[in-house]
Amino acid sequence: DRLISPDAATDDQTLDRAIRPRRLEDYVGQPAVREQMEIFIGAARARGEALDHVLIFGPPGLGKTTLSHIIAHEMQVNLRQTSGPVLEKPGDLAALLTNLESGDVLFVDEIHRLSPVVEEVLYPAMEDFQLDIMIGEGPAARSIKLDIPPFTLVGATTRAGLLTSPLRDRFGIVQRLEYYSAEDLTHIVRRSAQILAIETETSGAAEIARRSRGTPRIANRLLRRVRDYAQVKANGCITAEVADKALSMLKVDAQGFDHMDRRLLEAVIDKFDGGPVGVESLAAAIGEERGTIEDVVEPFLIQQGYLMRTPRGRMATQSAYQHFGLKRPGATAN
Ligand code: ADP
Repeated sequence: DRLISPDAATDDQTLDRAIRPRRLEDYVGQPAVREQMEIFIGAARARGEALDHVLIFGPPGLGKTTLSHIIAHEMQVNLRQTSGPVLEKPGDLAALLTNLESGDVLFVDEIHRLSPVVEEVLYPAMEDFQLDIMIGEGPAARSIKLDIPPFTLVGATTRAGLLTSPLRDRFGIVQRLEYYSAEDLTHIVRRSAQILAIETETSGAAEIARRSRGTPRIANRLLRRVRDYAQVKANGCITAEVADKALSMLKVDAQGFDHMDRRLLEAVIDKFDGGPVGVESLAAAIGEERGTIEDVVEPFLIQQGYLMRTPRGRMATQSAYQHFGLKRPGATAN
């Protein structure tokens, strides 16, 4: 298990609910997204209409689900939540859509994983609030049209490029989440610490923030692990020193990298002479799934300038050799 995985699977759901912001004003960072959403939500509410469909994309753990809940809360409507792979048949989607109340938010996580037949049903639903479904089979089959209440589809995906263009074109609002700055993450850590009644010095929160890969979910998780350490090894207060010791013990380095990052960069450098190497070969070399590399491991390495994505594949940068203490192939030791 990877401590700094941005996946939610291992997180305590109750704690998670307690610290998840519910209002737009508590959504830290992402100023452009916040400013736009405030205007769009305010305008839709003033007109008494459903908000236009919203597509949110960004790496895991950056706040897509949180933002969808905030949208529903600010619009004062219900939120229904599902995900692309769960909606196997057109009927699964039809059942959800026909149960919506006017203005409701339907949140579809991993929307790029919808099957083509389900996507077909979604188009008229998004555009005209109509369901076009086939009932029966063979010669007796016929298509019926049903009106559904106006609703807001909020779709989330890790990368915009994964979506078919007819689907992407049907979203009136598209928001892209960026990795958070260390300051924003410090703010998030301090806010969570306050809610969870964890004594934290600002410098301690900042140390956790710096090592959280720009990702709120990771920051909150590291906060909980550092708290354990502070309780057992210190007097319970998270200072910069306590945070540093705890995170070093947990093998999260000063930049927030762990064994998985190192393994990936080592493979690029040792097995492929620094690259370029295609993502498939890289996945095979380190025994990881391609999707995990593309969604979870490499985006932060690329954003931080340790890995480059070129048309011929991934390449390690000078910073990668330096930070991980690796030798450039062919270079003479000095
Ligand atoms: P995603 O859906 O993109 O994987 P989530 O919305 O589940 O990410 O966010 C993960 C956690 O990070 C949430 O539990 C929430 O507490 C925290 N979080 C995300 N974005 C923010 C934010 N802008 N401000 C404060 N906390 C946030």
